[in-house]
Amino acid sequence: MNNWRTGLITALLGIAIFPSAAQALPEESRIPGGVALVPLVGINSTTAPQVSYGEQRVMVVPNKDAGRKADWVAVVGIPLSAEADQPQTLSLDDKTFGFDISPKEYEAQYLTVPNKRHVDPNPDDLARWKRESAEMKAAFTRWSEPDQIVDKMELPATGRFSSPFGLRRFFNEQPRNPHSGLDIAAPTGSPISAPAAGEVVAVGNYFFNGNTVILDHGYGLTTLYCHMSAIDVSLGDQLEAGDLIGKVGATGRVTGPHLHWSVSLNNTRVDPLLFIGKE
Ligand SMILES: [Zn+2]
Repeated sequence: MNNWRTGLITALLGIAIFPSAAQALPEESRIPGGVALVPLVGINSTTAPQVSYGEQRVMVVPNKDAGRKADWVAVVGIPLSAEADQPQTLSLDDKTFGFDISPKEYEAQYLTVPNKRHVDPNPDDLARWKRESAEMKAAFTRWSEPDQIVDKMELPATGRFSSPFGLRRFFNEQPRNPHSGLDIAAPTGSPISAPAAGEVVAVGNYFFNGNTVILDHGYGLTTLYCHMSAIDVSLGDQLEAGDLIGKVGATGRVTGPHLHWSVSLNNTRVDPLLFIGKE
């Protein structure tokens, strides 16, 4: 077959493989902080294959697309720190699946926080934060296999999006980690509800994050809620979509009352809006 024909057929297949409506959420966005949907071509197992990205196991879902070239699709969270010129690799036993990502320049944000210790923590603060991050990491790296795979989320709070995901951040003019979630500004006391079914796997009052809850939705998908004025759940609670988690507040490192909401896949924080259906 000559080249233009091969190219044309590849292009047509490319469209046929990824009709966005037929594939389960999240929406694909192959950039740092985005999600890659990688078809596992040539894998014919009847149960979901065990695939890893770096150290972490990744979500694998059945490919529901009628014109599918693969039975399974890996749903991979791409770190904000990923370099666009570095090829990304998934591994499955002795096989590998590569994918490319595009560069993304996120905007810078300069914030002034009143509590100086939230910018320059003292040794006690740092020791506390270290314990808390270990607790949160344990929640983010959890692997559970509930009956339902979450493929759709509702926003957990109503309000203006005050800070988008991915901003490069400066607190009191000092560079800090990029913004790993979406901020929703709302008055203190506004309800925060579960965006999908999940289990409460961390509850705490943390140095930077204030009153915090982490939900495990299964298969490496977790969500984080910070700065709450009140927590209305306990460790181990099984929540349904819409159940009350807590209330918006201004605890921890904040400039005003808001919900900080993070969504994590394979222990990687990704843009929460990729999980919200656009209707
Ligand atoms: Zn935030």
